[in-house]
Amino acid sequence: MVVNQFNGDILMLYEDLVEVYQDLDSTTKRLEKTDILANFLAKVGEEEPELIPMVTLLSLGRIFPTWSEEELGIGSKLLMKAISKAVGVSPGEVENQMRDAGDIGLAAEELYQKKSQVTLFSRPLTIKKVHRNLVKMAEVSGNRAQFKKIDLLMELLSSASPSEAKYLTRTVLEELRVGVGEGTIRDAISQAFNIPTEVAERAHMLTNDMGLVASVAWKEGEEGLKKLTLKPGKPVKPMLAQLSPGIKESVEEMGWALCETKYDGIRVQIHRHGDKIDIFTRRLENISLALPEITQYIEKSLPHEDFIVEGEIIASRDGKPISFQYMLQRVRRKYEIDKMVSKIPLTIYLFDVLYYHQPTLDEPLQERRKILESLVKVENDRVELSAQVKVHPEEIHRAQDLFELSIKQGHEGIMIKDPQAPYMPGIRGKKMLKLKAEPETLDLVVIGGTYGKGKRAHLIGSYLMAIRDEDDKLKPLAYAATGLDDKTLLELSEMVEPLIESKDGRQVKIVPSIIMEIAFSEIVESPESEVGYSLRFPVVKRIRNDIGLDEIDTLERIKSIFKNSEKS
Ligand code: ATP
Repeated sequence: MVVNQFNGDILMLYEDLVEVYQDLDSTTKRLEKTDILANFLAKVGEEEPELIPMVTLLSLGRIFPTWSEEELGIGSKLLMKAISKAVGVSPGEVENQMRDAGDIGLAAEELYQKKSQVTLFSRPLTIKKVHRNLVKMAEVSGNRAQFKKIDLLMELLSSASPSEAKYLTRTVLEELRVGVGEGTIRDAISQAFNIPTEVAERAHMLTNDMGLVASVAWKEGEEGLKKLTLKPGKPVKPMLAQLSPGIKESVEEMGWALCETKYDGIRVQIHRHGDKIDIFTRRLENISLALPEITQYIEKSLPHEDFIVEGEIIASRDGKPISFQYMLQRVRRKYEIDKMVSKIPLTIYLFDVLYYHQPTLDEPLQERRKILESLVKVENDRVELSAQVKVHPEEIHRAQDLFELSIKQGHEGIMIKDPQAPYMPGIRGKKMLKLKAEPETLDLVVIGGTYGKGKRAHLIGSYLMAIRDEDDKLKPLAYAATGLDDKTLLELSEMVEPLIESKDGRQVKIVPSIIMEIAFSEIVESPESEVGYSLRFPVVKRIRNDIGLDEIDTLERIKSIFKNSEKS
């Protein structure tokens, strides 16, 4: 720490945070990582508590919460240029170093070590200074924005030590790589400030702002966290569904059920706060700009009051839903959006309400549905309520009829929901179940591959796919043939190229990042496999850009599908 020469305040050094990063890097054990972070958070609480939210986000490699629209706007090219200036070598040399090291942080660290230390370290960097400059970098706009950003970055880089440069550059590119996820930091907050984990977890699910959770935990403890609630404008983690073992069993377990069509589009949360309407994906990205027509429909059909509603948007042609992939394209599109709007009409099927005048998520689903019905003033073919039927155990056929109708209309299946259940953000429980027509598929991550032979020698022909095991580790499950056309195969090989970690003949190891949906005929027990199971005839169905590494399928799910298939 240093003492502020003007007012005598204690300022923590960036070096202290870098030491924490190094400690985190030196262990793969989650409990040890939690201890390291908890100790550090407690120390920040004592020395410079206003840093708590910043340090929390910086430990996750972020400057802003995930849903924030703010971005640093510095790509690797610009960053390399700044490093080259800071250490006084040519940009080409930085690029070579980067290629050799395979990581911008390591490259920066090595270049800094080579450089004479005399001119570096002009003034020690404080965490506050680093954070302030990073925030300013996101804020500058206008035609000289890039220059201003570089200036702000140079201010930091020219005072950085080799290890500070390593983590600073990684932070700028949002690739911190110290193996800290939201679960670890949540546990660290609980440990540091003596908070039950469930309380910290719920506060996070509702606010999605780990920095806020940490600072409230420090300042107001458990009681303060319990008071945190959702607010229109800030996205909430969606409630997730488990697989239904069958309609009858599910309805009987719930007593009676509300069954709805399961639409296969993209799930959105729509927030109205004041005059603003924000649309968020299930990963909490703000996609309002990509879907202007949805904003218009909502503007027309729902009241001008604060609310949060949830629904599924699908695109349809001649009354039939079209592929979910189309919706993904729409959501990612940044230019010529108007052209797309007129091409294929979208419909939003609303199925839940989380806020209307006040939070509604603790109301039972049947009450929330009534609130939703009262909210949608004008139902038309652009804004509809999800098709829903009440199903009691003695009239299971009503659910079966809805299932058949939904499939005939081109939808995916049905949802079976417990009418008494509150909305449980981020929870994949038994209160919301899904029943799909298609056999199950798995979302797995690519960790390796094998190049083809002959004409396909330049393409990776099969991919080694991994699941997440009980210890949260990625474990190989099966090689999947691609099942994709040559064009997609080529695109995929190009996507994979920069992620290749090592090569051994035709085999490659790949940094886990690309998630694919895998179809298969059966899960079988396999003593040779590390996880004890394997897939029969696994085939890549599609690339899933819409979910994160933390959402891939687990060993637990494999076991449950295997068990269910044994029963049938
Ligand atoms: P899947 O691939 O089966 O959609 P997932 O992991 O993407 O699985 P789940 O939570 O398991 O998501 O399945 C529920 C999803 O179904 C919701 O996320 C939502 O996008 C979609 N859905 C479609 N119609 C409805 C509906 N009426 N009620 C709730 N969810 C619905």
